[in-house]
Amino acid sequence: MSLQIARGREAKPPLRSVRSESDARPQLKEAKAETTKVVAVPPPAKKTALRFPVNPATRAFYKKFYPGTSTVEWNDWRWQMRTRIRTLDELARIFRLSEDEYAAVAKHKGSLPVGITPYYASLMDLKDPTEPLRRTHITTGGEYIRTPGEDNDPLGEDHDTVAPGIVHRYPDRVLFLTTGTCSTYCRYCTRARVVGNPGGEYNFSLKQWEQALAYLEGHTEVRDVLLSGGDPLTIGDDKLDWLLGRLRAIKHIEFLRIGTKIPMVLPQRITKNLVSILKKYHPLWMSIHVTHPNELTAETTESTARLADAGIPLGSQTVLMKGINDDVAVMRPLMQGLLRRRVRPYYLYQCDPISGSAHFRTTVEKGLEIIEGLRGHTTGYATPIFAVDAPGGGGKIQVAPDFIVGRDGDDLLLKNFEGGVYRYPDPGGKLGADKQQPARKAAAE
Ligand code: SF4
Repeated sequence: MSLQIARGREAKPPLRSVRSESDARPQLKEAKAETTKVVAVPPPAKKTALRFPVNPATRAFYKKFYPGTSTVEWNDWRWQMRTRIRTLDELARIFRLSEDEYAAVAKHKGSLPVGITPYYASLMDLKDPTEPLRRTHITTGGEYIRTPGEDNDPLGEDHDTVAPGIVHRYPDRVLFLTTGTCSTYCRYCTRARVVGNPGGEYNFSLKQWEQALAYLEGHTEVRDVLLSGGDPLTIGDDKLDWLLGRLRAIKHIEFLRIGTKIPMVLPQRITKNLVSILKKYHPLWMSIHVTHPNELTAETTESTARLADAGIPLGSQTVLMKGINDDVAVMRPLMQGLLRRRVRPYYLYQCDPISGSAHFRTTVEKGLEIIEGLRGHTTGYATPIFAVDAPGGGGKIQVAPDFIVGRDGDDLLLKNFEGGVYRYPDPGGKLGADKQQPARKAAAE
């Protein structure tokens, strides 16, 4: 799309409130489309294939807490957005809140409000405040405790912001913060300062997008744009189509990525219409934010399948959190479950030191322990990169277990996943020479 054409479209920008029939009523649309094709095909089997699934526990949840809601409404992503649980009263209607949760939610002000889609709430334990998904979405008193090293902008993104929403830290790629809206608000969010209508410079208006696009058009070194936020998939179809079209029209941008939690927390958003928009802009990759195996439901199987079937390479990113997923017994089924859904585990992040995050943060050793518990013990593809995003803008730094145990002359001594030491002939090499030598007999002959 030329700039001129794009500017022409700017005169009539797609509105956030635009509600396309296909988005509003995915099931109806799919059923309707089916009706038109019905002539030679027996309808029942095809209809079943097109229907968005509802897992039994979720169905029981919505029958209890949203009586009178039809499956069509439940599977309408805009209904899910509109009906998000956002108030103390609404939380208390559904969850048996602990005193700590009640007081912490009541005290909250500013950005990162509580926001949970009814679908995602259906995956949580309604009575147990220690349940992992619930802990990551209902405010607790820990958020108000400040510890050394924490910051509202721990990664120094504001410092590297070169145009509204554009963080340009690495040479050939940028982060494009497109919106401040998410379907659910994670209590450990690195961008807590940005999300949930914080106002000010974080309004993400169309005017701000234009300034961001102007920066990208003028910087030919940028070949890779990661759209994030907030969650870019909360943007309506028309607007998203427009934005992706504008980005694709910039010749030097080779590669688009979307960072999103939507396929896990609002899988109904992955409509046929959305997928048909996304697949126009290949190469387009997606990083899906996942937390726990409890997110791997029939619904998320469907959302990831729709994306993978559209040829969108899917990777995952997971934040390591104390008592949530800092255990090989949790992480292994999560990574294996992602692979089964054609999502390649990509990053495991040490939790960023945002203000009030001490109750979520665990040690870096714990992350290494998890990587050691995956590497060699399961499919290599199921082992993500473990990284610390360096506070102050240092960028992602990979931290990996050290499998080099030493050197014996021309032999490099390596430890395998079971702890056995093996020799690799490496004449001329120096690697491992600075390590304490293990007893000769420890190394396999
Ligand atoms: S979905 Fe992403 S941007 Fe939104 S609150 Fe969660 S971590 Fe933050």
